[in-house]
Amino acid sequence: MEITDVRTERIEVPLDRPLGVSRDRSLDARGAAFVVVETDAGITGIGEGVGPESYIVERIVEEKYAPLLIGEDPLDIERHWQSMVTDTVYQDRKGQGLSAASGVDIALWDIAGKHHGVPVYRLLGGPMEGSLKPYASDLFWQDPETMAERARSYVDRGFAGVKTHLGRGLDADEARVAAMRDAIGDAALMVDMNCGYDRPEARRVGRMLEEYDVYWYEEPLTPYDVDGLAALRRELDVPIASGENEYTKWGFHDLFEADAVDYAMPDVMRCGGITEAKKICALAETYNTVCSPHCFTTGVGLAATMHVMAASPACEWLEFDPTDFEVYEPLFETPPTIADGRIDLPEEPGLGVNLDEDVIGEFRVA
Ligand SMILES: [Mg+2]
Repeated sequence: MEITDVRTERIEVPLDRPLGVSRDRSLDARGAAFVVVETDAGITGIGEGVGPESYIVERIVEEKYAPLLIGEDPLDIERHWQSMVTDTVYQDRKGQGLSAASGVDIALWDIAGKHHGVPVYRLLGGPMEGSLKPYASDLFWQDPETMAERARSYVDRGFAGVKTHLGRGLDADEARVAAMRDAIGDAALMVDMNCGYDRPEARRVGRMLEEYDVYWYEEPLTPYDVDGLAALRRELDVPIASGENEYTKWGFHDLFEADAVDYAMPDVMRCGGITEAKKICALAETYNTVCSPHCFTTGVGLAATMHVMAASPACEWLEFDPTDFEVYEPLFETPPTIADGRIDLPEEPGLGVNLDEDVIGEFRVA
């Protein structure tokens, strides 16, 4: 089998409700760069690289990686990872080059699953269990009552945990944490600061979170401040989560060596794809650290994340977007169902996703 084409499909989906996060930042659209790998066997692989600037991922995939891959056997996945990421003298150690390589890598695993006639998690040695535990990842900045009501609705739908996005000051954060805790009873409450605080403020807010039995305290600091994360982890009783802005097993090795995280959050679409996420999960095992991959993306990224998690004993909690995002469940061959706080794995060969024109067509970026 030979690769005959490597290309990207970009989309941008406008949002009815802006997604407010720390420091008064807000998103009013969500984009994605899908990677499509064609073969002479008629098998097509689909992947996704999270930029976040999808035009940069597109340019890297089509101009840098496609020439390395066309004419090659798509099943030589490890070799292709090396040629994209580590073979050159001028290495792209973190950032969008890794995101682009992640998208290609995921598409190659999709091809491998289709070629062998099994879901990707089987190729990775899974499943560890028949299903995964999702938490509802939403609850962006709004007034406390609205956020509490929304949090309650997710628990009522069967989610055992909910994640919120705060980071706009101690008092404003506390008003929202208190309202949500009150609304969801003893369900898990994860709090994500999206890198919004400096060390003193992160410590003050962390002490407040301890009072509300917060499940984890995500990215309180800039990802550059690994020592600061480690210090917070020592000083606070609330577990620290970080890693969505980290890349490769070497990056996670540094996080683990610094004792900086309780929950490691590699993003399969950024950290180096399925190939690298699997290794990061294994590395987490050696540090007795839980892996809860970051996943705030389309159905393609969700599927890739589910296959990785299903094959690792280090993984807990699937980040799940409960908002009926237009390019989420509709990209699955069989849209996943959530019942009793669990989600079923895709059982089709490969990732179990497609890029139907009637789903992505209206969002395509030319
Ligand atoms: Mg986050």
